Amino acid sequence: MQEITVLSPATVANVVCGFDCLGFCLEEPNDLMTVRLVDKKTVKIKHLDDYNLPLEPEKNVAGKALLAVLERIEENIGFEVEITKRIMPGSGVGSSAASAAGAVVAANKLLGERFSQNELVELAMYGEMVASGAKHADNIAPCVLGGFTLVRSVEPMDVIQIDYPTLFATIIHPQIEIKTSYAREILPKEVPLKSAIRQWSDVGSLIAGLQKGDYDLIARSLQDFIIEPVRKKLIPSFDEVKTASMKAGALGGSISGAGPSIFMFSKDLETANQIKDAMNGVYSQTGIDFKIYVSPISSKGVVKQ
Ligand code: ADP
Repeated sequence: MQEITVLSPATVANVVCGFDCLGFCLEEPNDLMTVRLVDKKTVKIKHLDDYNLPLEPEKNVAGKALLAVLERIEENIGFEVEITKRIMPGSGVGSSAASAAGAVVAANKLLGERFSQNELVELAMYGEMVASGAKHADNIAPCVLGGFTLVRSVEPMDVIQIDYPTLFATIIHPQIEIKTSYAREILPKEVPLKSAIRQWSDVGSLIAGLQKGDYDLIARSLQDFIIEPVRKKLIPSFDEVKTASMKAGALGGSISGAGPSIFMFSKDLETANQIKDAMNGVYSQTGIDFKIYVSPISSKGVVKQ
């Protein structure tokens, strides 16, 4: 095989109580990527979209991830990549992770599947570092593996796949920009022990609820005492969106990634669409442009087109 085209999906990280560790994979939106083998140890990036992303491999997350792949292989080969971005950069639904994960999963297929899942997450993480400057795998892991994931550690890489019942996510993406660096800057440097105890109790019970398929336990565990109270101030009408979504039947939800997207979970498609209407009702009043996605949690991750 000399060439492969993959679909690389959006993901949600910072899942309510699971800041910097829990993430899940969506079916839509996704990026379209074609990766081709070339007989020179180089990486070439082409964007077939209008986002004006950097084309130098060192500055593009897909390019950086592929350079990391080249460092791990002996052969005198390289990659050409064509990216059609459909996940808007800076949206909070893992736009950069999709490019990094899509690139390494595609390259791995061209190389005869020689890297393990943990290695793929690690390689893609080097790409993701271009976007955030830090080692984060909480969007990368669900993008590579699909489903619901917990990143227990990045050094050494230790990713756990979590069973989950049927779940839908409704995601509103207000078309405003929140700088991830600013969203990090405003976080508390220290956390009161009382809040930490409540938070880690909820992470534990959320995992138990997901594994057992206990929707009531999932709903009870979807609380965030540490990050949401600080970051929600960056997102216009956050409380109104949450209240209207809960009234429409949401199990719970919060800020997706570093924002500005907000996601809400539900048990079925009908409720997910009712939440979409509720979000629409709130945001139509704000004068801010927005997009809403409804998607099941996808078990697949990056797939061959
Ligand atoms: P998201 O939260 O949606 O993942 P990020 O803020 O993490 O968005 O990533 C977007 C940043 O990464 C932008 O600054 C963008 O310029 C940079 N970037 C570099 N290459 C890519 C790429 N191939 N896809 C998306 N973003 C990229």
